[in-house]
Amino acid sequence: MPDVQTVRGPVPAERLGPTLTHEHLVVSSTEFARDYPDRAWPGGRDAALATVVARLREVHDRGIRTIVDCTALHHGRDTAFVVEANAAVPDLNVVVSTGIYTDDYLPFYIKHRPKRPGVVDVLTELFVTDLVEGIGHTGVRAQNIKVMTDTAGVTANNERILRAAAQAAMETGAPITTHTHAPARNGLAQQAIFAQEGLDLAGVVIGHSGDSTDLDYLRALMDAGSVIASDRFGLNGAGRATEEQRIATIARLCGEGYGDRIVLSHDCLMACDWLDSFDAYPATWVPTHVSDVVLPALREAGVDEKDLKQMMVTTPARLLARNSGAR
Ligand SMILES: [Zn+2]
Repeated sequence: MPDVQTVRGPVPAERLGPTLTHEHLVVSSTEFARDYPDRAWPGGRDAALATVVARLREVHDRGIRTIVDCTALHHGRDTAFVVEANAAVPDLNVVVSTGIYTDDYLPFYIKHRPKRPGVVDVLTELFVTDLVEGIGHTGVRAQNIKVMTDTAGVTANNERILRAAAQAAMETGAPITTHTHAPARNGLAQQAIFAQEGLDLAGVVIGHSGDSTDLDYLRALMDAGSVIASDRFGLNGAGRATEEQRIATIARLCGEGYGDRIVLSHDCLMACDWLDSFDAYPATWVPTHVSDVVLPALREAGVDEKDLKQMMVTTPARLLARNSGAR
């Protein structure tokens, strides 16, 4: 298997080990962090760094060896912070992402550089550069592309973003991880755009699929070749599937032979300036929840060790190994 680009350089895919496929180490609103640091880092940046390092150590203690950070452009990505946090936890691989976190709104930098026929979209250019050369001046290469579609569905701007992601994925081999609004079943619309571009859907993770209990929808995504992510473990309520429903859905699909097309994660925001406090969120929404609670519950529900290994080790490695970084 080829090497996977991590924050600390290339790692052979077969050595990635148990992997959380969708987390966020830090979400930092750039202009606030620059101009109002006391707002962006209420306890100070060092305190935020210490919090993230503590989280990473807890995750490592549970046997997790790789985390895919899905923080893209326009989501508060801070690659230098991720590098610092990872440096304090040596035996943990962190893989970072390119892509853009907006469904319909386009930042003016993008909007005023519209896609023109026959010319590479500036979005594709950005994504490919992050994957092949590195993110800005950090020297860290992204390995994953993150894009989103939400309740508005595939609007014209959203279609542009999805097509740019598909083009970058085809040029580099990088996997795509999406955000979806699962109740709207819009993973199917994402797949349709990717397929039109000629992308192999086996390299696409349809994110937040675990929020849904619609088995026909989930099977359709996997039958088309993609991987589905039950990547919001611990974040229940707000109309999303309950933990019991998430477990039962996975157990059922594993029983039907889909165990090689499912991955697990939490979508945790380990340090994030969006709210004064995340105290209103469930205490289960921590990046150790899959290890401590979900994996035992899946075993209890009849999921065998082979499928657990597929979801935690083999499938994440298979996806990440797709990025050859070729140009
Ligand atoms: Zn996320």
